[in-house]
Amino acid sequence: IFDLAGKKVYVAGHRGMVGKALVRRLGAESCEVLTARRDELDLTDQRQTLDWFASARPDAVFVAAALVGGIYANSTYPAKFLFQNLMIATNAIEAARLVGVSKLVFLGSTCIYPKHASQPITEDALLTGPLEPTNESYAIAKIAGVKLCQAYQRQYGCRFISAMPTNLYGPGDNYHPENSHVIAGMFNRVREARRESKPFTVWGTGRPRREFMHVDDCADALVHLMANYEDDAPINVGTGKDITIAELAEIIAAVAGFDGPITYDQSKPDGTPRKLTDVTRLFRTGWRPKVELRDGLVTTWNDYLAEVGESLS
Ligand code: GDP
Repeated sequence: IFDLAGKKVYVAGHRGMVGKALVRRLGAESCEVLTARRDELDLTDQRQTLDWFASARPDAVFVAAALVGGIYANSTYPAKFLFQNLMIATNAIEAARLVGVSKLVFLGSTCIYPKHASQPITEDALLTGPLEPTNESYAIAKIAGVKLCQAYQRQYGCRFISAMPTNLYGPGDNYHPENSHVIAGMFNRVREARRESKPFTVWGTGRPRREFMHVDDCADALVHLMANYEDDAPINVGTGKDITIAELAEIIAAVAGFDGPITYDQSKPDGTPRKLTDVTRLFRTGWRPKVELRDGLVTTWNDYLAEVGESLS
């Protein structure tokens, strides 16, 4: 319904994992991709944002910019997470309306859903219960972004939609030793195990189930939704498949060429038993994921080795 050909498409947050993947994916479309460096445009500044939109005149916008961080950063800087993410959402959406942007996709996250939402999580679970307290600031700001898109559709007729990606992995991930998510954490630990000929230690019991999506699939879905999704209701972006942490550890050990023992450190928390999105709405638009977890992990492992300065093995 919205044709990207010949359009100017602004990717806000092009230095992040999703933004980078969007820029790569948009390279396959005959559109002009616009980006702005942080020193050219501070999205938390309303004046700068309005001025930049007024001179760049994008036709379409992906809002993939956000202040993100792990549980530690979120609980130490709640004010910063709330303020910056609210400002980014508000400024980008209002500026898009003022300059007449034809289509906007706002990126949320599945952490906007209540902590005890039933699994798989449907979009209707939004605002039906309390949030996970450790990332409440981030979630509240993202919920405000979803509501802004809905309100701007209703009041101004703007074609602004919001998409909620599940757990993502892929090139450009955060490989910080303590602050990273499970895939990056396992990469660090399996590499250490291989180097020091010791067991590969996995946190928790291995029994929790998680859904993982390659960031290139996410970018492909977002481009598809930009073209084909018009509803004011948010839409989950996931694979609809989950695996246990133990299964994930087996795959990562194989990908890393580690054949030693895998041990479970049960002093570390399991977190929530299951996290899976309901992708009925997404699949109804005709989109399907393409990257198999194992294949995606092979390329991501190579990216990780390059990142940590080890030659490919
Ligand atoms: P969550 O999805 O919000 O719980 O975040 P994580 O990605 O940090 O953790 C997912 C699951 O993987 C939890 O059950 C962890 O206990 C487990 N896990 C196993 N090994 C690791 C690791 O090395 N790092 C992290 N972050 N999680 C791990």
